Amino acid sequence: METIDLLVVGGGIVGLTAAIAAAEGGARVALVDAAINAGSNANAGSLHVQMQSRFIRLFPDQAPNVEASLPLYLSAVKEWERLDREIGPFELVRKGGLMLAESAEQMAFLEQKAAREARQGLHVDLLGRSELDKLAPWLGEQIVGAELCHDEGKLNPLVANVRLRARAIELGVDMQIDHVTGLGQQGHVTVHCASGRVHHCDKVILAAAWGVGSLVQGFGLDLPVRAEPLHMNITEAGAGQINHLIQHAERSITLKQFGSGQIVIGGGWQAQSRGNQDVPGVLAQSLLGNIALAARLVPSIGQLRVIRTWAGMNTTLDGKSLLGGVPGAERIILAVPGDAGYTLGPLCGRAAACLALGNEPPLDIDPFTPGRFSA
Ligand SMILES: Cc1cc2nc3c(=O)[nH]c(=O)nc-3n(C[C@H](O)[C@H](O)[C@H](O)COP(=O)(O)OP(=O)(O)OC[C@H]3O[C@@H](n4cnc5c(N)ncnc54)[C@H](O)[C@@H]3O)c2cc1C
Repeated sequence: METIDLLVVGGGIVGLTAAIAAAEGGARVALVDAAINAGSNANAGSLHVQMQSRFIRLFPDQAPNVEASLPLYLSAVKEWERLDREIGPFELVRKGGLMLAESAEQMAFLEQKAAREARQGLHVDLLGRSELDKLAPWLGEQIVGAELCHDEGKLNPLVANVRLRARAIELGVDMQIDHVTGLGQQGHVTVHCASGRVHHCDKVILAAAWGVGSLVQGFGLDLPVRAEPLHMNITEAGAGQINHLIQHAERSITLKQFGSGQIVIGGGWQAQSRGNQDVPGVLAQSLLGNIALAARLVPSIGQLRVIRTWAGMNTTLDGKSLLGGVPGAERIILAVPGDAGYTLGPLCGRAAACLALGNEPPLDIDPFTPGRFSA
């Protein structure tokens, strides 16, 4: 019976970066991915640090968890910068993010939010319209001001995913497409796949996002993992002018410009669920609503054609990341990022690899351990 050091389940940003970190640490690593509905292949490449108004509005009960995790987002962006230097470039730009206000009430909301964020160590400023004009004169006339979070940024996830995957292969990670159907720990860990293949491994990292809940049910964990289908648009190339990540104080939107000049527009508009094993469907009202809002905030977007629109699967939990060994089966390590999981992905991936290798993780994982969901 051949036993490998580490099997990673899930080939999104967390699984890939965990596999890379473990292989760089000298482990023999295999990665099994069902290759369906990876949020990492559908996402917008925003490096989020400030609290997203969308999240506060939709999941108010989880907002305190996100607020407590804000220092983690700062570290996560630094981890992306390290990868960008060592494995990139990924078109990573860190010029900050603007959250726009269209009314005095929205400005007051941003003021309160900025004060809370500053207490967590974020570098934030409030800008009136005249200060905003120096940074972003192309914004719609109705914008009265914004919160600028200097820590935020953006990258091109298509470029990042390809380069990270190539790095994993270069390091000898055995990449397999298969669906993990069950796990057992008797000394080592046994992993059963839909193909009939059985893997025997010293450690397993579960980085399967929406797929982790069913895999750990038999271990007394009741994870509130929820798949959330979301919509995205991208335009043809426009004149390069938008340096910042753009969001809104009340409405669901993120927009940013890639190096190519194309503008990626998303921010949490709904897509149609077709179950976890099928790609979500595009909803016409999300397509139209999302681009209409973008054109209201940045009028020049109204002149551009949308060249592609798609839907992808996000995963939500309780607002906090999930990192650590399964209670009673510590060789099985969970690695699910909290909200804005592409931003948090590489830091969570490296932390999980450290746990698997018996090294000190790059962050205090106590607030994120799976024990909080013991049934
Ligand atoms: C449209 C959209 C836009 C987004 N924009 C942003 C953004 O701009 N910035 C940001 O920070 N975050 C963003 N996100 C969130 C982010 O993409 C995700 O949180 C993140 O990519 C999750 O990474 P992951 O590695 O945990 O999981 P995923 O990338 O979801 O990958 C999980 C993988 O596990 C596989 N899997 C599941 N079950 C099994 C199983 N049993 N066996 C084998 N494999 C399995 C899946 O097929 C999948 O390939 C966005 C999400 C969406 C959908």
